[in-house]
Amino acid sequence: MSNRIGFVFKMGQAATVQSSTAVKLRRKLKAVERNAHGLWQILKAVASTDHPLLAHLIPIRRCNLACTYCNEFDDFSKPVATDLMLRRVDKLAELGTSVVTISGGEPLLHPELDAIIARMRQRRVVSGLITNGYLLTPDRIQRLNRAGLEWLQISIDNVNPDEVSKKSLKVLDRKLQNLAEHAEFHVNINSVVGGGVSNPQDALAIGRRALELGFSSTVGIIHDDSGQLQPLADDERRVYHEMKQLEKRSFTRVNAFQDNIALGRPNQWRCRAGARYLYICEDGLVHYCSQQRGYPAIPLEKYTVSDLRREFYTEKSCAPHCTVSCVHQVSILDAWRAPQRPAPVSEPAGGLVQIE
Ligand code: SF4
Ligand code: SF4
Repeated sequence: MSNRIGFVFKMGQAATVQSSTAVKLRRKLKAVERNAHGLWQILKAVASTDHPLLAHLIPIRRCNLACTYCNEFDDFSKPVATDLMLRRVDKLAELGTSVVTISGGEPLLHPELDAIIARMRQRRVVSGLITNGYLLTPDRIQRLNRAGLEWLQISIDNVNPDEVSKKSLKVLDRKLQNLAEHAEFHVNINSVVGGGVSNPQDALAIGRRALELGFSSTVGIIHDDSGQLQPLADDERRVYHEMKQLEKRSFTRVNAFQDNIALGRPNQWRCRAGARYLYICEDGLVHYCSQQRGYPAIPLEKYTVSDLRREFYTEKSCAPHCTVSCVHQVSILDAWRAPQRPAPVSEPAGGLVQIE
């Protein structure tokens, strides 16, 4: 009897090893496909400035957590109707958008998220997802594989939960192991230093764990609870530089702008929000970014190439101290061309939230 149990156990182990090898193989094949697609998108982006490179699309504002520094969630909103979400994906594809990232709130609370991701695949738009990870069971991850998700990011704020954030390595480690075992898409773990994070060393522990599990790792600098950026303290800066070394090992990132932010210095750059980057809120309005909601606030279905062209050339007065790293990254592609003009006083740029 005990021999039989031993045999069944070994068979079970062999099946697990085989399935995790198959997942790794599929992940590698998908990475080759993703890199080829990425190269094509870069060539397309260099050839023409008349299309967005990245859009953040919000399917639900509600979140199952309540991080105290966050101004992007509520605890009551209903999911956006799926047919509206599919139309928004179609419209972004018609505008020639290269990558659409689903964000929130917590996007996994949308009951038909898989259908939205699958539509992106049908429309040949690269699909990404930013989640707090709490709802990632093996079954949920396999559904994301089947929908065709290409990359996923979880931001982890600390090792142990505290009053600021429950996005903690201790709580999420099981979810990360699920991802390592089942995800066929790329996984990036972002950690943070700066305002509100009580132990800067946590970022290093999170980054090392991410690499150990085969993910890439990045670091962000967050503002304090009044929305302002403070130069990093000495110990935070040390951790930040160690994290940058980890990043280099895992992923080539274009975020040198953060070095200036770490020192409290402004950046000189051309923010292409509203053109190369779009933020589509749950009401279907196009905004510059999550921190500048209200401008230009045009319904996505009415957004045209002339809107893209206008915003491409419009200077954003909030740019020098901006920390929105995805907009910095997409704007780098056009840094060498097309100087911008200040927004006319009648236009909204004068009313943008100023980050100091
Ligand atoms: S998990 Fe994300 S969306 Fe939810 S409150 Fe925290 S930072 Fe905001
Ligand atoms: S906050 Fe940053 S990304 Fe947003 S509009 Fe201003 S400069 Fe651009």
